[in-house]
Amino acid sequence: MSATNPKVGFISLGCPKALVDSERILTQLRTEGYEVVPTYQDADLVVVNTCGFIDAAKAESLDAIGEAIKENGKVIVTGCMGGKEEDIRKVHPSVLSVSGPQQYEQVVNAVHEYLPPKQDHNPFIDLVPPQGIKLTPRHYSYLKISEGCNHRCTFCIIPSLRGDLVSRPVGDVLDEAERLVKAGVKELLVVSQDTSAYGVDLKYRTGFWQGRPVKTRMTELCEALGSMGVWVRLHYVYPYPSVDSVIPLMAEGKILPYLDIPFQHASPRVLKAMKRPAAAEKTLERIQAWRSICPDITLRSTFIVGFPGETEAEFQELLDFLDEAQLDRVGAFAYSPVEGAVANDIAPLIPEEVQQERLARFMEKQAEISTRKLAAKIGREVDVLIDEVVEEGAVGRTKADAPDIDGQIFLDGATHLQPGQFVKAVVEDADEHDLWGSLR
Ligand code: SF4
Repeated sequence: MSATNPKVGFISLGCPKALVDSERILTQLRTEGYEVVPTYQDADLVVVNTCGFIDAAKAESLDAIGEAIKENGKVIVTGCMGGKEEDIRKVHPSVLSVSGPQQYEQVVNAVHEYLPPKQDHNPFIDLVPPQGIKLTPRHYSYLKISEGCNHRCTFCIIPSLRGDLVSRPVGDVLDEAERLVKAGVKELLVVSQDTSAYGVDLKYRTGFWQGRPVKTRMTELCEALGSMGVWVRLHYVYPYPSVDSVIPLMAEGKILPYLDIPFQHASPRVLKAMKRPAAAEKTLERIQAWRSICPDITLRSTFIVGFPGETEAEFQELLDFLDEAQLDRVGAFAYSPVEGAVANDIAPLIPEEVQQERLARFMEKQAEISTRKLAAKIGREVDVLIDEVVEEGAVGRTKADAPDIDGQIFLDGATHLQPGQFVKAVVEDADEHDLWGSLR
Protein backbone atom coordinates (compact mmCIF):
# COMPACT_ATOMS: atom_id res chain seq x y z
CA MET A 1 0.00 0.00 0.00
CA SER A 2 1.27 3.49 -0.76
CA ALA A 3 2.76 5.66 1.97
CA THR A 4 0.20 8.35 1.15
CA ASN A 5 -2.84 6.29 2.03
CA PRO A 6 -4.88 7.93 4.81
CA LYS A 7 -4.16 6.11 8.07
CA VAL A 8 -6.66 5.25 10.78
CA GLY A 9 -6.00 3.96 14.27
CA PHE A 10 -8.78 1.85 15.76
CA ILE A 11 -9.56 1.01 19.39
CA SER A 12 -12.26 -1.60 19.99
CA LEU A 13 -13.66 -1.96 23.51
CA GLY A 14 -16.48 -4.11 24.82
CA CYS A 15 -18.13 -7.39 24.00
CA PRO A 16 -17.84 -9.70 20.97
CA LYS A 17 -20.83 -7.93 19.41
CA ALA A 18 -18.95 -4.63 19.49
CA LEU A 19 -15.95 -6.41 18.00
CA VAL A 20 -18.08 -7.52 15.06
CA ASP A 21 -19.16 -3.88 14.56
CA SER A 22 -15.51 -2.82 14.59
CA GLU A 23 -14.66 -5.44 12.00
CA ARG A 24 -17.41 -4.15 9.73
CA ILE A 25 -16.26 -0.55 9.99
CA LEU A 26 -12.65 -1.54 9.36
CA THR A 27 -13.59 -3.67 6.37
CA GLN A 28 -15.43 -0.71 4.85
CA LEU A 29 -12.53 1.68 5.47
CA ARG A 30 -9.98 -0.75 4.06
CA THR A 31 -12.13 -1.23 0.96
CA GLU A 32 -11.99 2.53 0.45
CA GLY A 33 -8.20 2.58 0.63
CA TYR A 34 -7.64 3.58 4.25
CA GLU A 35 -4.73 1.94 6.00
CA VAL A 36 -5.23 0.66 9.53
CA VAL A 37 -2.19 1.37 11.69
CA PRO A 38 -1.28 0.09 15.16
CA THR A 39 -0.01 3.28 16.87
CA TYR A 40 -1.39 6.71 17.72
CA GLN A 41 1.69 8.32 16.20
CA ASP A 42 1.24 6.67 12.79
CA ALA A 43 -2.48 7.43 12.61
CA ASP A 44 -3.98 10.53 10.97
CA LEU A 45 -7.11 9.97 13.05
CA VAL A 46 -8.32 7.51 15.70
CA VAL A 47 -11.73 5.79 15.94
CA VAL A 48 -12.76 4.54 19.40
CA ASN A 49 -15.54 1.94 19.52
CA THR A 50 -16.87 2.26 23.07
CA CYS A 51 -18.76 0.07 25.53
CA GLY A 52 -21.35 1.58 27.86
CA PHE A 53 -22.74 -1.52 29.50
CA ILE A 54 -21.66 -0.97 33.10
CA ASP A 55 -20.09 1.98 34.82
CA ALA A 56 -16.62 0.40 34.79
CA ALA A 57 -16.88 -0.05 31.01
CA LYS A 58 -17.99 3.57 30.59
CA ALA A 59 -15.02 4.74 32.64
CA GLU A 60 -12.71 2.59 30.50
CA SER A 61 -14.24 4.07 27.34
CA LEU A 62 -13.82 7.64 28.58
CA ASP A 63 -10.20 6.90 29.52
CA ALA A 64 -9.53 5.41 26.09
CA ILE A 65 -11.01 8.50 24.39
CA GLY A 66 -8.89 10.74 26.64
CA GLU A 67 -5.73 8.85 25.79
CA ALA A 68 -6.47 8.97 22.06
CA ILE A 69 -7.06 12.75 22.26
CA LYS A 70 -3.80 13.24 24.17
CA GLU A 71 -1.73 11.02 21.89
CA ASN A 72 -3.29 11.83 18.54
CA GLY A 73 -5.79 14.67 18.83
CA LYS A 74 -8.27 13.68 16.09
CA VAL A 75 -10.79 11.29 17.60
CA ILE A 76 -14.10 9.86 16.35
CA VAL A 77 -16.25 7.99 18.86
CA THR A 78 -18.80 5.28 18.11
CA GLY A 79 -20.43 2.29 19.85
CA CYS A 80 -22.67 1.76 22.86
CA MET A 81 -21.48 4.83 24.75
CA GLY A 82 -22.12 6.92 21.66
CA GLY A 83 -25.83 6.56 22.49
CA LYS A 84 -25.07 8.97 25.34
CA GLU A 85 -23.34 11.71 23.40
CA GLU A 86 -23.69 14.35 26.12
CA ASP A 87 -21.80 12.14 28.64
CA ILE A 88 -18.88 11.94 26.25
CA ARG A 89 -18.90 15.59 25.24
CA LYS A 90 -19.06 16.66 28.89
CA VAL A 91 -15.68 15.04 29.54
CA HIS A 92 -14.13 15.28 26.08
CA PRO A 93 -15.59 18.28 24.22
CA SER A 94 -12.97 18.03 21.47
CA VAL A 95 -14.08 14.70 19.95
CA LEU A 96 -14.83 15.21 16.26
CA SER A 97 -17.93 13.07 15.99
CA VAL A 98 -20.06 10.72 18.11
CA SER A 99 -22.31 7.96 16.78
CA GLY A 100 -24.16 5.07 18.40
CA PRO A 101 -23.89 1.28 17.99
CA GLN A 102 -24.22 -0.13 14.47
CA GLN A 103 -24.24 3.33 12.93
CA TYR A 104 -21.65 2.12 10.47
CA GLU A 105 -22.51 4.70 7.87
CA GLN A 106 -22.22 7.62 10.30
CA VAL A 107 -18.78 6.48 11.48
CA VAL A 108 -17.53 6.01 7.96
CA ASN A 109 -19.01 9.39 6.90
CA ALA A 110 -17.29 11.06 9.85
CA VAL A 111 -13.97 9.51 8.80
CA HIS A 112 -14.56 10.81 5.23
CA GLU A 113 -15.26 14.29 6.58
CA TYR A 114 -12.16 14.58 8.76
CA LEU A 115 -9.81 12.40 6.72
CA PRO A 116 -10.94 12.21 3.09
CA PRO A 117 -10.14 9.00 1.18
CA LYS A 118 -7.45 9.11 -1.47
CA GLN A 119 -8.96 10.28 -4.76
CA ASP A 120 -7.03 7.90 -7.02
CA HIS A 121 -7.98 4.87 -4.95
CA ASN A 122 -8.99 1.95 -7.16
CA PRO A 123 -11.56 -0.22 -5.39
CA PHE A 124 -10.91 -3.01 -7.85
CA ILE A 125 -7.47 -3.59 -6.45
CA ASP A 126 -8.08 -6.09 -3.71
CA LEU A 127 -7.21 -4.34 -0.48
CA VAL A 128 -9.37 -6.51 1.69
CA PRO A 129 -9.05 -10.23 2.27
CA PRO A 130 -12.24 -12.09 1.24
CA GLN A 131 -13.33 -12.61 4.85
CA GLY A 132 -13.07 -8.88 5.66
CA ILE A 133 -10.87 -7.46 8.39
CA LYS A 134 -10.70 -9.69 11.44
CA LEU A 135 -9.69 -8.45 14.86
CA THR A 136 -9.73 -12.00 16.23
CA PRO A 137 -6.92 -14.40 15.25
CA ARG A 138 -7.43 -15.84 11.78
CA HIS A 139 -8.56 -19.25 12.95
CA TYR A 140 -11.68 -18.19 14.82
CA SER A 141 -14.29 -15.61 14.15
CA TYR A 142 -17.45 -14.20 15.68
CA LEU A 143 -20.54 -14.49 13.51
CA LYS A 144 -23.20 -11.96 14.40
CA ILE A 145 -26.68 -13.18 13.46
CA SER A 146 -28.85 -10.33 14.68
CA GLU A 147 -28.83 -6.88 16.22
CA GLY A 148 -30.91 -5.56 19.12
CA CYS A 149 -33.21 -7.34 21.52
CA ASN A 150 -36.95 -7.65 22.15
CA HIS A 151 -36.56 -8.21 25.89
CA ARG A 152 -36.51 -5.54 28.54
CA CYS A 153 -34.42 -6.97 31.35
CA THR A 154 -34.58 -4.35 34.07
CA PHE A 155 -30.80 -4.20 34.63
CA CYS A 156 -29.99 -3.72 30.95
CA ILE A 157 -30.00 -0.67 28.71
CA ILE A 158 -28.97 -2.47 25.54
CA PRO A 159 -32.47 -2.36 23.95
CA SER A 160 -32.55 1.40 24.46
CA LEU A 161 -29.12 1.67 22.83
CA ARG A 162 -29.47 -0.93 20.10
CA GLY A 163 -33.22 -1.17 19.52
CA ASP A 164 -35.46 -4.21 18.97
CA LEU A 165 -34.35 -7.48 17.45
CA VAL A 166 -33.42 -7.37 13.77
CA SER A 167 -32.28 -10.75 12.42
CA ARG A 168 -29.88 -10.89 9.51
CA PRO A 169 -31.17 -12.85 6.52
CA VAL A 170 -30.14 -16.47 6.94
CA GLY A 171 -28.57 -16.59 3.46
CA ASP A 172 -26.32 -13.61 4.31
CA VAL A 173 -25.23 -15.18 7.60
CA LEU A 174 -24.43 -18.51 5.92
CA ASP A 175 -22.59 -16.81 3.03
CA GLU A 176 -20.47 -14.93 5.53
CA ALA A 177 -19.77 -18.14 7.47
CA GLU A 178 -18.75 -19.90 4.28
CA ARG A 179 -16.41 -17.05 3.30
CA LEU A 180 -14.81 -17.19 6.72
CA VAL A 181 -14.31 -20.96 6.52
CA LYS A 182 -12.81 -20.66 3.02
CA ALA A 183 -10.43 -18.02 4.39
CA GLY A 184 -9.14 -20.44 7.04
CA VAL A 185 -11.44 -19.94 10.02
CA LYS A 186 -11.73 -23.13 12.08
CA GLU A 187 -14.21 -22.01 14.69
CA LEU A 188 -17.33 -19.87 14.33
CA LEU A 189 -18.69 -18.21 17.45
CA VAL A 190 -22.34 -17.36 16.95
CA VAL A 191 -23.23 -14.13 18.78
CA SER A 192 -26.23 -11.83 19.18
CA GLN A 193 -28.14 -10.41 22.17
CA ASP A 194 -30.47 -13.41 22.17
CA THR A 195 -29.43 -16.21 19.83
CA SER A 196 -32.46 -18.37 20.61
CA ALA A 197 -34.72 -15.57 19.31
CA TYR A 198 -33.08 -15.58 15.87
CA GLY A 199 -35.74 -15.09 13.19
CA VAL A 200 -38.63 -14.21 15.55
CA ASP A 201 -38.87 -10.74 13.96
CA LEU A 202 -39.04 -12.32 10.49
CA LYS A 203 -41.60 -14.91 11.59
CA TYR A 204 -38.96 -17.55 10.82
CA ARG A 205 -39.16 -16.62 7.15
CA THR A 206 -37.71 -19.13 4.71
CA GLY A 207 -34.56 -17.78 3.05
CA PHE A 208 -32.23 -19.31 0.50
CA TRP A 209 -28.70 -20.55 0.67
CA GLN A 210 -26.95 -22.37 -2.15
CA GLY A 211 -30.31 -22.77 -3.88
CA ARG A 212 -31.86 -24.53 -0.90
CA PRO A 213 -34.61 -23.18 1.33
CA VAL A 214 -33.47 -22.57 4.92
CA LYS A 215 -35.67 -21.19 7.68
CA THR A 216 -34.47 -18.11 9.58
CA ARG A 217 -34.42 -20.01 12.87
CA MET A 218 -31.71 -21.14 15.29
CA THR A 219 -32.10 -24.88 14.66
CA GLU A 220 -31.94 -24.62 10.86
CA LEU A 221 -29.08 -22.12 11.07
CA CYS A 222 -27.16 -24.53 13.32
CA GLU A 223 -27.80 -27.45 10.95
CA ALA A 224 -26.41 -25.47 8.02
CA LEU A 225 -23.41 -24.16 9.98
CA GLY A 226 -22.82 -27.70 11.23
CA SER A 227 -22.32 -28.85 7.63
CA MET A 228 -19.27 -26.59 7.14
CA GLY A 229 -16.76 -28.86 8.90
CA VAL A 230 -15.59 -26.37 11.54
CA TRP A 231 -16.33 -25.87 15.23
CA VAL A 232 -19.60 -23.97 15.77
CA ARG A 233 -20.13 -22.51 19.24
CA LEU A 234 -23.36 -20.90 20.44
CA HIS A 235 -23.34 -17.86 22.70
CA TYR A 236 -26.16 -15.99 24.47
CA VAL A 237 -28.85 -18.64 24.26
CA TYR A 238 -31.88 -18.53 26.61
CA PRO A 239 -33.41 -21.68 28.08
CA TYR A 240 -36.55 -21.72 25.95
CA PRO A 241 -38.11 -25.08 25.02
CA SER A 242 -37.00 -24.43 21.42
CA VAL A 243 -33.36 -24.79 22.51
CA ASP A 244 -34.04 -28.52 23.06
CA SER A 245 -33.94 -29.01 19.30
CA VAL A 246 -30.26 -28.04 18.96
CA ILE A 247 -29.07 -30.51 21.63
CA PRO A 248 -29.31 -33.54 19.28
CA LEU A 249 -27.08 -31.63 16.80
CA MET A 250 -24.54 -31.37 19.60
CA ALA A 251 -24.87 -35.06 20.47
CA GLU A 252 -24.28 -35.93 16.80
CA GLY A 253 -21.13 -33.79 16.70
CA LYS A 254 -22.53 -31.31 14.14
CA ILE A 255 -22.05 -28.30 16.41
CA LEU A 256 -20.01 -28.05 19.60
CA PRO A 257 -21.63 -29.48 22.73
CA TYR A 258 -21.47 -26.08 24.36
CA LEU A 259 -24.13 -23.62 25.45
CA ASP A 260 -23.44 -20.15 26.78
CA ILE A 261 -26.69 -19.49 28.55
CA PRO A 262 -26.87 -16.44 30.82
CA PHE A 263 -29.20 -17.45 33.66
CA GLN A 264 -28.36 -14.35 35.80
CA HIS A 265 -30.17 -15.74 38.88
CA ALA A 266 -32.07 -18.72 40.20
CA SER A 267 -34.64 -17.24 42.57
CA PRO A 268 -38.01 -16.99 40.76
CA ARG A 269 -38.78 -13.69 42.47
CA VAL A 270 -35.47 -12.11 41.48
CA LEU A 271 -35.75 -13.45 37.91
CA LYS A 272 -39.20 -11.90 37.70
CA ALA A 273 -37.88 -8.59 39.04
CA MET A 274 -35.13 -8.81 36.42
CA LYS A 275 -37.80 -9.53 33.74
CA ARG A 276 -35.56 -12.26 32.39
CA PRO A 277 -36.60 -14.13 29.25
CA ALA A 278 -37.66 -17.72 29.95
CA ALA A 279 -37.74 -16.94 33.70
CA ALA A 280 -40.62 -19.33 34.21
CA GLU A 281 -38.94 -22.30 32.52
CA LYS A 282 -37.98 -25.25 34.67
CA THR A 283 -34.28 -24.73 34.26
CA LEU A 284 -32.94 -27.62 36.34
CA GLU A 285 -35.20 -30.15 34.61
CA ARG A 286 -34.18 -28.75 31.27
CA ILE A 287 -30.47 -29.04 32.09
CA GLN A 288 -30.99 -32.67 33.14
CA ALA A 289 -32.81 -33.45 29.91
CA TRP A 290 -30.01 -31.85 27.85
CA ARG A 291 -27.40 -33.88 29.71
CA SER A 292 -29.31 -37.10 29.14
CA ILE A 293 -29.25 -36.42 25.36
CA CYS A 294 -25.72 -35.03 25.24
CA PRO A 295 -23.74 -36.09 28.34
CA ASP A 296 -20.64 -34.13 27.29
CA ILE A 297 -22.41 -30.80 27.00
CA THR A 298 -20.54 -27.86 28.55
CA LEU A 299 -22.78 -25.27 30.16
CA ARG A 300 -21.45 -21.77 30.69
CA SER A 301 -23.45 -19.07 32.39
CA THR A 302 -23.27 -15.64 33.97
CA PHE A 303 -24.99 -14.40 37.11
CA ILE A 304 -25.68 -11.11 38.85
CA VAL A 305 -25.14 -11.10 42.59
CA GLY A 306 -26.66 -8.47 44.88
CA PHE A 307 -29.49 -7.40 42.54
CA PRO A 308 -31.60 -4.63 44.17
CA GLY A 309 -33.82 -6.21 46.84
CA GLU A 310 -32.04 -9.62 46.77
CA THR A 311 -32.48 -11.16 50.23
CA GLU A 312 -30.02 -13.50 51.92
CA ALA A 313 -32.53 -16.34 51.40
CA GLU A 314 -32.76 -15.58 47.68
CA PHE A 315 -29.00 -15.47 47.41
CA GLN A 316 -28.89 -18.84 49.17
CA GLU A 317 -31.32 -20.14 46.51
CA LEU A 318 -28.75 -19.13 43.93
CA LEU A 319 -25.97 -21.03 45.75
CA ASP A 320 -28.23 -24.10 46.00
CA PHE A 321 -28.89 -23.83 42.27
CA LEU A 322 -25.15 -23.88 41.60
CA ASP A 323 -24.87 -27.03 43.70
CA GLU A 324 -27.63 -28.72 41.78
CA ALA A 325 -26.92 -27.47 38.28
CA GLN A 326 -23.16 -28.22 38.41
CA LEU A 327 -22.44 -25.77 35.60
CA ASP A 328 -19.04 -26.06 33.97
CA ARG A 329 -18.11 -22.41 33.60
CA VAL A 330 -19.56 -19.45 35.44
CA GLY A 331 -18.95 -15.73 35.46
CA ALA A 332 -20.48 -13.44 38.09
CA PHE A 333 -20.82 -9.71 38.61
CA ALA A 334 -22.01 -7.63 41.52
CA TYR A 335 -25.03 -5.59 40.36
CA SER A 336 -23.91 -2.28 38.97
CA PRO A 337 -26.53 0.49 38.72
CA VAL A 338 -26.13 1.46 35.08
CA GLU A 339 -27.62 4.88 34.46
CA GLY A 340 -31.08 4.52 32.93
CA ALA A 341 -31.66 0.92 34.09
CA VAL A 342 -35.15 0.35 35.52
CA ALA A 343 -33.79 -1.99 38.23
CA ASN A 344 -32.06 0.89 40.03
CA ASP A 345 -35.43 2.11 41.29
CA ILE A 346 -37.39 -1.09 41.93
CA ALA A 347 -35.88 -1.84 45.35
CA PRO A 348 -33.13 -0.48 47.59
CA LEU A 349 -29.63 -1.13 46.27
CA ILE A 350 -27.68 -3.77 48.19
CA PRO A 351 -24.74 -2.18 50.06
CA GLU A 352 -21.44 -2.79 48.34
CA GLU A 353 -19.90 -4.75 51.25
CA VAL A 354 -22.84 -7.16 51.20
CA GLN A 355 -22.55 -7.50 47.41
CA GLN A 356 -18.84 -8.22 47.63
CA GLU A 357 -19.30 -10.72 50.44
CA ARG A 358 -21.97 -12.57 48.40
CA LEU A 359 -19.84 -12.45 45.28
CA ALA A 360 -16.92 -14.01 47.19
CA ARG A 361 -19.16 -16.82 48.52
CA PHE A 362 -20.56 -17.40 45.05
CA MET A 363 -17.12 -17.57 43.44
CA GLU A 364 -15.83 -19.88 46.16
CA LYS A 365 -18.66 -22.32 45.56
CA GLN A 366 -18.22 -22.26 41.81
CA ALA A 367 -14.44 -22.66 42.12
CA GLU A 368 -15.02 -25.94 44.00
CA ILE A 369 -17.44 -27.15 41.31
CA SER A 370 -15.17 -26.12 38.47
CA THR A 371 -12.08 -27.69 40.08
CA ARG A 372 -13.94 -30.98 40.55
CA LYS A 373 -15.29 -30.97 36.99
CA LEU A 374 -11.91 -30.22 35.44
CA ALA A 375 -10.15 -32.82 37.63
CA ALA A 376 -12.59 -35.41 36.24
CA LYS A 377 -11.08 -34.77 32.79
CA ILE A 378 -7.62 -36.01 33.82
CA GLY A 379 -6.77 -39.09 31.76
CA ARG A 380 -9.32 -38.27 29.05
CA GLU A 381 -8.50 -37.65 25.41
CA VAL A 382 -9.65 -34.27 24.14
CA ASP A 383 -9.73 -32.45 20.79
CA VAL A 384 -7.74 -29.23 20.94
CA LEU A 385 -7.68 -26.19 18.66
CA ILE A 386 -4.29 -24.49 18.94
CA ASP A 387 -4.52 -20.73 19.58
CA GLU A 388 -0.88 -19.78 19.93
CA VAL A 389 2.59 -21.23 20.18
CA VAL A 390 4.95 -19.74 22.76
CA GLU A 391 8.46 -20.59 23.90
CA GLU A 392 7.33 -23.30 26.33
CA GLY A 393 4.84 -25.01 24.04
CA ALA A 394 1.40 -24.70 22.46
CA VAL A 395 -1.67 -23.15 24.05
CA GLY A 396 -5.08 -24.27 22.84
CA ARG A 397 -8.67 -24.80 23.80
CA THR A 398 -10.88 -27.85 24.02
CA LYS A 399 -14.47 -27.99 22.77
CA ALA A 400 -15.50 -26.94 26.27
CA ASP A 401 -13.68 -23.61 26.13
CA ALA A 402 -14.61 -20.43 24.30
CA PRO A 403 -11.82 -17.92 23.65
CA ASP A 404 -11.17 -15.28 26.31
CA ILE A 405 -13.94 -16.30 28.70
CA ASP A 406 -13.17 -19.97 29.46
CA GLY A 407 -10.01 -21.95 30.15
CA GLN A 408 -7.04 -23.10 28.08
CA ILE A 409 -5.04 -26.28 27.71
CA PHE A 410 -1.25 -26.05 27.85
CA LEU A 411 0.75 -28.55 25.82
CA ASP A 412 4.31 -28.14 27.09
CA GLY A 413 7.03 -28.72 24.51
CA ALA A 414 4.65 -28.85 21.51
CA THR A 415 6.38 -25.91 19.80
CA HIS A 416 6.13 -27.51 16.34
CA LEU A 417 2.36 -26.89 16.20
CA GLN A 418 0.67 -23.98 14.40
CA PRO A 419 -2.22 -21.73 15.49
CA GLY A 420 -5.42 -23.02 13.89
CA GLN A 421 -4.32 -26.66 13.96
CA PHE A 422 -6.55 -29.38 15.48
CA VAL A 423 -4.75 -32.00 17.59
CA LYS A 424 -5.68 -34.71 20.06
CA ALA A 425 -4.25 -34.55 23.58
CA VAL A 426 -4.52 -36.41 26.85
CA VAL A 427 -5.32 -34.32 29.92
CA GLU A 428 -2.68 -34.79 32.62
CA ASP A 429 -3.42 -32.05 35.12
CA ALA A 430 -6.03 -29.44 35.94
CA ASP A 431 -6.68 -26.55 38.28
CA GLU A 432 -9.84 -24.54 38.83
CA HIS A 433 -9.63 -22.94 35.39
CA ASP A 434 -7.15 -24.57 33.00
CA LEU A 435 -5.86 -27.94 31.83
CA TRP A 436 -2.39 -29.31 31.08
CA GLY A 437 -1.86 -32.17 28.69
CA SER A 438 0.37 -33.89 26.18
CA LEU A 439 -0.10 -34.78 22.54
CA ARG A 440 -1.39 -38.24 21.70
S1 SF4 B 1 -31.94 -10.29 26.86
FE1 SF4 B 1 -32.02 -8.83 28.53
S2 SF4 B 1 -29.86 -8.58 29.14
FE2 SF4 B 1 -29.86 -9.46 27.10
S3 SF4 B 1 -29.74 -7.68 25.71
FE3 SF4 B 1 -31.91 -8.24 25.92
S4 SF4 B 1 -32.62 -6.90 27.57
FE4 SF4 B 1 -30.38 -6.92 27.71
